[in-house]
Amino acid sequence: MALFDLEQVAKEYPMGGETVHALDGLDLQIHKGDYMAILGPSGSGKSTLMHLLGFMDRPTRGTIRFDGEDVSSLSPNKRAWFRANSLGFVFQSFNLLPRLSVLDNVLLPVSYSRTEQPTKKEDAQRALDRVGMSHRGGHRPGQLSGGERQRVAIARALINRPKLILADEPTGNLDSENVAKTIELFEELVNEGQTFVMVTHDLEIAGHAKRVVHMLDGKITKETGR
Ligand code: ADP
Ligand code: MG
Repeated sequence: MALFDLEQVAKEYPMGGETVHALDGLDLQIHKGDYMAILGPSGSGKSTLMHLLGFMDRPTRGTIRFDGEDVSSLSPNKRAWFRANSLGFVFQSFNLLPRLSVLDNVLLPVSYSRTEQPTKKEDAQRALDRVGMSHRGGHRPGQLSGGERQRVAIARALINRPKLILADEPTGNLDSENVAKTIELFEELVNEGQTFVMVTHDLEIAGHAKRVVHMLDGKITKETGR
């Protein structure tokens, strides 16, 4: 069974009397263990697709199944539950809270999830250890380099053992050395069984993924990969 199964998914936005077809009848399956890049030019619908996969929005038409369950028209509360308990997020701009320590930033998703986790501090330490940042738990994000901040953000994405990590342009704000390191870390996590989907407009970054899904005008035009 696919982790995500999207069937004829459409997302439309009304815009001053017109309709924007951000997604236009999209079929996509994401399987457990997939390492997928979604590649496409600006305006092709990548962020809209990420919002739907991230339970941040609902499709105008079509069906989205997650782990076999129809999640196409869940309430905002139910969507928040899936977001907190099943997914991890990595963003281009890291989205760390500047006033919190690195350790507390990693712990943030724990407070959103309903699961009781008495050992959460140890989990956060382990997640930081996993990304090579356990020696920086007491630092503030502002005291770290961009590459280090993204590693902390990846630790935060890992903390609730998500079924899927979604990354939107995860290397967009990194220099080439840190791009390489971050991609290497993604590959290690995938090799450990983590399901991982990233959006990028960078062909070279996308080329690291095993499946590359090409988007244009709200549609998938082709899939390539190794
Ligand atoms: P990408 O991430 O690939 O650049 P988006 O998913 O952001 O593409 O956008 C796809 C299309 O939908 C674009 O034409 C964009 O202008 C439009 N769009 C996205 N979000 C909205 C919105 N909230 N309201 C109106 N139009 C939107
Ligand atoms: Mg976008």
